[in-house]
Amino acid sequence: MNQSTTNHTVGDTCIVCEQLKHQGIRIYTKFLCIDCEQEIVHTEIDDPKYQFYLQQLKKIINREIYS
Ligand SMILES: [Zn+2]
Repeated sequence: MNQSTTNHTVGDTCIVCEQLKHQGIRIYTKFLCIDCEQEIVHTEIDDPKYQFYLQQLKKIINREIYS
């Protein structure tokens, strides 16, 4: 009766670093790992890296919306 079914995310392939990670957030059907999420949060908007992240995210979001 008292089964503790832990509902942890098993992990997935991150859309930015493309590595299998266990912690992260879901964007639509895609997965963004916690490391990259933190990176994005701490990257300045005028940093070229930020544009890269943004592009990766846009790619996914567009695909999900218009497919
Ligand atoms: Zn990642």
